[in-house]
Amino acid sequence: MHPTDSKPDPRRSTGELIRLEQVTKRFGDHTVLDHLDFSVDAGKHVTLIGPSGSGKTTILRLLMTLLKPDEGTITVDGDQLFPAPEKQVREVRKKIGMVFQQFNLFPNMTVLRNITEAPVTVLGMSKDAAEERARELLELVGLTEHMHKHPSQLSGGQQQRVAIARALAMRPQVLLLDEVTSALDPELVAGVLDVLRDIARSTDITMLCVTHEMNFARDISDQVLMFDSGRIIESGSPEKIFSEPEHDRTREFLSAVL
Ligand code: ADP
Repeated sequence: MHPTDSKPDPRRSTGELIRLEQVTKRFGDHTVLDHLDFSVDAGKHVTLIGPSGSGKTTILRLLMTLLKPDEGTITVDGDQLFPAPEKQVREVRKKIGMVFQQFNLFPNMTVLRNITEAPVTVLGMSKDAAEERARELLELVGLTEHMHKHPSQLSGGQQQRVAIARALAMRPQVLLLDEVTSALDPELVAGVLDVLRDIARSTDITMLCVTHEMNFARDISDQVLMFDSGRIIESGSPEKIFSEPEHDRTREFLSAVL
């Protein structure tokens, strides 16, 4: 399927794609998430907002299996990611792609190779098929003419767009976005957000996004979750959260960042 094709992919799930139940995460004696429950439906774009240190990134890192919960269960597309045997974790993990604050590209590989490497080695795609897909994705992120360059020859914004293409090349069902513009120079932010808006509009991928870019959150989100101290204190449509927040803490947070 072409990445900009708006027809739903028949392999895609409908209904609940991600579920966290009673998830607790502690670092030493600091409880960052305390019996957290939430779910994300397939195809939806959900944004986590809230003050720094409230546990938003920890949630993405748990879903990426970079961290393990101390208690609770995490389910993705009906299969348990935690607790689960290692083999199952590896399978379920393939449904999830992530783009980090720091782009984490392979510095010694060209842009094209950065995108084709995992589909070939992890998914067993042929080199030709992986390259064809990579070319489509490079078009989507506007970097076709840079495919033979190395990351160090690109701006931060271009590198981040490669990282987005690389994540999508694995055909994940959900894309996790962790403050993907916060390491960028201000003039490069808009280009990256435009690419993400385009992906949100033109594909059926589920997005779970941590961002301080409130206009972007307002544009792309179906649902916004406001975090404070590891708890969801308020959730709803962007219209509700940004225009009529119920909670004082949400109002304070928004007036500080908007
Ligand atoms: P947010 O994304 O909302 O800014 P985080 O999820 O990054 O918050 O962090 C939540 C809390 O967990 C913070 O107090 C942070 O210092 C702490 N924390 C995150 N990762 C670690 C870690 N690896 N070791 C110890 N403390 C951590």
